[in-house]
Amino acid sequence: MNQRELFFRHVAQTSPAPLTLEIVKAEAARLYDAAGKEYIDLIGGISVANTGHRHPAVVKAIKEQLDAYLHIMVYGEFVETPQVRYAQLLTRHLPAALDSVYFTNSGAEAVEGAMKLAKRIMNRPGIIAFDHSYHGSTQGALSIIGSEYWRNAFRPLLPGISHLKYGSFQALDEISADTACVIAETVQAEAGVIPPSIKWMQALRQRCNETGTLLILDEIQTGFGRTGKLWGFENFGIVPDILLLGKALGGGMPLGAFISSKERMGTLMDAPVLGHITTFGGHPVSCAAGIAALDVLINEGMMDKVKEKETLFRSLLVHPAIKEVRSYGLWLAVRFDSFETNKKIIDQCIEKGVLTDWFLFASDSLRISPPLVITEEEIRTACEVIISSVS
Ligand code: PLP
Repeated sequence: MNQRELFFRHVAQTSPAPLTLEIVKAEAARLYDAAGKEYIDLIGGISVANTGHRHPAVVKAIKEQLDAYLHIMVYGEFVETPQVRYAQLLTRHLPAALDSVYFTNSGAEAVEGAMKLAKRIMNRPGIIAFDHSYHGSTQGALSIIGSEYWRNAFRPLLPGISHLKYGSFQALDEISADTACVIAETVQAEAGVIPPSIKWMQALRQRCNETGTLLILDEIQTGFGRTGKLWGFENFGIVPDILLLGKALGGGMPLGAFISSKERMGTLMDAPVLGHITTFGGHPVSCAAGIAALDVLINEGMMDKVKEKETLFRSLLVHPAIKEVRSYGLWLAVRFDSFETNKKIIDQCIEKGVLTDWFLFASDSLRISPPLVITEEEIRTACEVIISSVS
């Protein structure tokens, strides 16, 4: 059996149509397959490779940490320098109220931890989420996914959860003194890059203040420079009570985090003690990689060019078959008339060396969330390929 056959035989599959590329090397915004074919990567591992695949500073940091130690103890017992340094670096770049970081293995675990924290602090029954939101695939995260199709097959899920229409002012009235927390993506990702209005985001913050409800913002895709600012919430002039990070946070290594105030986090230490436990959360190699990635993201000015690159993409993605281009930073959704059209174009793009896919809740839209280091030339080539695949 070749690798592809072994992949289908022994690697458990949940996708009915996996991309099945066999990538042997990745660098900056390029991927290379086993046959030596080169791809411009418009997916970036789904908003993970923001600083580019294998940034030299990230690779160096990983190697240095490999020479020091790997896993040495479960989370929160030893003073692990990479965790301490990363928590300090993150909080230095966050508002003062977000000064305590709990590192997890993944985005979904950050969501789970945040929901537990909200319950622990608030002692209220309700959790509110939004239609077409995606927060992960574990049971708690799945309970708040904004799609009955995915929720339904796995009931019973968490009780007390309701879903509101994202962006609706009227819906905010549903947030009440019974609501422990509202969890929202700052910009909806898998809905196909749907930003809310600034006014709505501020009204959401205001409603949470009025009802004493915690606002949790999921920036697992929005964060880390994707929108042109380090954190998506900076675009809306608000600050969440709990912030969720993942994906690009580990610079290509697995890492998530829920971040709040030291005082709030303290509730997870008391009755019961060890209110959230993880073996590998905040793995030292992941934290070392994350520190290097955040350093280069800031120090190499990668966010400065995001708006320019967004504008370039938009100027090149013009064709009668393109029904709409939604974008927010270096993050675009190109809408066609149907999934079938989109899929045909995606397949042709891959054939021609441009890697893209669609969104979970917007299958008619082609995904563009490349490494922020994608060059102008790569953007021009990628757009030529997309347009030539449409025609
Ligand atoms: N939240 C958002 C917005 C996501 O896009 C994802 C993953 O795609 C998650 C949470 C879950 O993260 P993970 O896949 O690391 O569990």
